[in-house]
Amino acid sequence: MLIPRRSRTCRTRPSLLARGDQSNAAIAGQSTPRRKLANVGSVQQAQLQSEQTTQVVAASGVSRRYGEGDTAVTALNDVSVEIERGKLTAVMGPSGSGKSTLMHILAGLDRPTEGSVLIDGIDITQLGDDALTRLRRDKIGFVFQFFNLLPMLTARENILLPMSIAGREPDPQWFDTVIDETGLRDRLTHRPAELSGGQQQRVAIARALLSRPAVLFADEPTGNLDSTASDEILQLLRRSVDSVGQTVVMVTHDPIAAAIADRILFLSDGRIVKDIGRSTEDQIVDAMKGLGG
Ligand code: ADP
Repeated sequence: MLIPRRSRTCRTRPSLLARGDQSNAAIAGQSTPRRKLANVGSVQQAQLQSEQTTQVVAASGVSRRYGEGDTAVTALNDVSVEIERGKLTAVMGPSGSGKSTLMHILAGLDRPTEGSVLIDGIDITQLGDDALTRLRRDKIGFVFQFFNLLPMLTARENILLPMSIAGREPDPQWFDTVIDETGLRDRLTHRPAELSGGQQQRVAIARALLSRPAVLFADEPTGNLDSTASDEILQLLRRSVDSVGQTVVMVTHDPIAAAIADRILFLSDGRIVKDIGRSTEDQIVDAMKGLGG
């Protein structure tokens, strides 16, 4: 059984990573080079207040444009959405509909051109890079399609890396629980190349769960797996929601994956065009019709 998330304190030490791509920066809690600090004064207060709210993420009037003039692309167009605590929300839509852009903005990996995003009551669009980095490190977990494990590290070292970078000690009991839940006990000394795709993704999920994030974002987490491994990963994500109330947001194009969600958002041309509750694969396939792509 997974045990409930609880609050913890943290201390920091300098990042061990000199540079990284967006995915690795997300894992390490690094900042993307963007706007400067605007307001960190009430972060702790907002954190305390937000523990009681049902919304973990709230986006309001979010737009994201790339480029300028004739070549400008509106990837997100005035999106407002709230993500409920302790639920699994799937985000679907044709290629180019804005799924990745939405996920990156909700997770604080990218900034909207307009609008605001609150995570646990904190407006992350008002945070400077350092505060945003800390917030991401403390509150957000990431799982990617291609796992993003460091090849020279063992599974155990990969799982512990973000906390190690943050200078935090994992709760040993929680570490054991996560390892048991992910079924990795006898794989901890293996390097990624010695693990199957499903096992590597379980390592990535264990790494994300270890810091007890307020929200775990998964970008096509089964997109690179066979059906058996996919099934395991989906069950694991679902269990994390049911057992400990983990909040999960999963981008997927796969109706089988979306069928484990409590709620499914459908994007088309940068807008949320459908928002439905728990659905069967057939219902999801029907809902996808007419979205294009
Ligand atoms: P999805 O994840 O649904 O495939 P994306 O969010 O990746 O969609 O992209 C939405 C739109 O924004 C697409 O038209 C895409 O080409 C465009 N886009 C995404 N990222 C960039 C970027 N860095 N520069 C320019 N256009 C981009």
